[in-house]
Amino acid sequence: MKRLFFKILIVFALLFFAAQAWAWHDKTHLMIAKAAGRTSWYNAAGPDLAKIKAGNIEEYNHWYNNNAEAEVTVRMVMDQVGRYNQRNKLMDSEGHVYGAIIASLRAYDKTVQSGKYAEYHLDYCAHYIGDLSQPLHNVPYDDYNKTWHSATDGVVENTIWNEMDKITAQMYEIRLSAEDFEADLAREIARIANLSRRLGYRLRAENRTLTKEEAFGQLGHSASLLKAVLVHYQPRR
Ligand SMILES: [Zn+2]
Repeated sequence: MKRLFFKILIVFALLFFAAQAWAWHDKTHLMIAKAAGRTSWYNAAGPDLAKIKAGNIEEYNHWYNNNAEAEVTVRMVMDQVGRYNQRNKLMDSEGHVYGAIIASLRAYDKTVQSGKYAEYHLDYCAHYIGDLSQPLHNVPYDDYNKTWHSATDGVVENTIWNEMDKITAQMYEIRLSAEDFEADLAREIARIANLSRRLGYRLRAENRTLTKEEAFGQLGHSASLLKAVLVHYQPRR
């Protein structure tokens, strides 16, 4: 009887974790945006809030499960752009976070041109660039991923409020040219995606979550890319 109770408890625990928001936890997202110099860094967790009302329209913008475990290319990134805010479960079961980064910036540009308030689109972009470096958002959603996802999302969450310097210490300069901005951005997205999925495979092989050190390295990639995007838009801000 005790064993049965224990088994039921495990099932409930797994269900609970399966229902968690699948992304770096809130403060981690906020601190990536803050480290990158985003003025409205406090909005960077918002896209996870949107999920509970928008459901699949928003969900698929946050990850790419890469079931083929294929090298992420610029072309693959660009092919995902048109899937932004789509919810075709059959056609798009792997998600499209790489395309969402670029599509949210296109939405920003369009809204600026129409003279409306555009900043929320950049806030969405800041969140997606954060998700890009979560290793388990770049690998198949298999048993390993399900088991370790929430722990990996939260690995620095409890301490990060006072540890922004650990992100900035991992930052480096990324140049996105004005002439070829989207192509350069797609190249950098692919580069970080490939680093992240390789780290994901290593974690899976070792059946563990990230170390804090590894997590800050990943957050450094996201913050560096977001900073480069913000630099590109600076003249308008
Ligand atoms: Zn997310």
